[in-house]
Amino acid sequence: MSKPILSLREVVKEFPIRGARGNLSFRAVNHVSLDIFPGETVGLVGESGCGKSTLGYMVMDLQPITQGEILFEGQKLADASKVERRKLQAKIQIVFQDPQSSLNPRFRIGQIVEEPLRLNGWRDKRERKNLVLQLLSKVSLGEEYLRRYPHELSGGQRQRVAIARALSLNPQLIVLDEPTSALDVSVQAQILNLLRELQQNLKLSYLFISHNLAVIRHLSSKVAVMYLGQIVEISGTDDLFAKPLHPYTKMLLSSVPNLNDERPLEVAVESEMPSAMHPPSGCSFHPRCPQASELCRQFNPELQRVNDLHWVSCHNFSQKEEETKGDA
Ligand code: SF4
Repeated sequence: MSKPILSLREVVKEFPIRGARGNLSFRAVNHVSLDIFPGETVGLVGESGCGKSTLGYMVMDLQPITQGEILFEGQKLADASKVERRKLQAKIQIVFQDPQSSLNPRFRIGQIVEEPLRLNGWRDKRERKNLVLQLLSKVSLGEEYLRRYPHELSGGQRQRVAIARALSLNPQLIVLDEPTSALDVSVQAQILNLLRELQQNLKLSYLFISHNLAVIRHLSSKVAVMYLGQIVEISGTDDLFAKPLHPYTKMLLSSVPNLNDERPLEVAVESEMPSAMHPPSGCSFHPRCPQASELCRQFNPELQRVNDLHWVSCHNFSQKEEETKGDA
């Protein structure tokens, strides 16, 4: 088996809160471990505020981690020198949710796609222009877009520009942070198909962050379900959709009757997720869980192995029962 291109090991992110009772902190990401293999798309799904975007920003080195480690191709990001870090950063790129705000409105499209090349030592202007044209062509935009401004483009075209820019330094991993949620449904499908095509042609790996289960299912080979900063279930996509084990995953799936449903999860799921600033004791899902027991209120369950690809953190999961069901 190939080695992971990206590994997160027990990653924690805490943010300080200044309040009347002195300096406190809250934990947005809580001991998350995750591997992404070459050519793989890992979908990270959860409600708004569960910590999934924070996790993406830490992978991008846009947020420092509080504890744990992130390794890219086996190298710890924290141990890399400034020069090594710059090289590693070129291999990991991000596409944000809203291309309107992620593209500089004062730059023409040609300048936007060219900028990372210029900043990374591509001195020859003609070479840069040729590459920009190739990148635009990869996302099905022609030369006529070079001199346009972002506001002259549709939402889908702007997202294509953001993808072309993300491809400019020949990355190996792209963090896709809700890349289709600001787009119309018909445009979403086009962008998802483009991402899939680029992945196949360029052998890219994706960390695909979304609240939309249909989108996650369409693109991901593996899905991690996140709740209040923790991964509560992780599995191959087909297995997760066919046989969800964690009560939260079941709730997510059952609350979206039609997987083309575009409602955000915070509306689709009954009752609100507690604040990460005041997390419940024990299993953080217990206030919403129909199966919660005293044990759940006191102790946080660990991730348990179901099989090599499927892990779940729930006191009610029993590997023995699972094997008995499989034998029956
Ligand atoms: Fe529900 Fe308990 Fe499992 Fe948490 S550990 S998901 S509260 S049954």
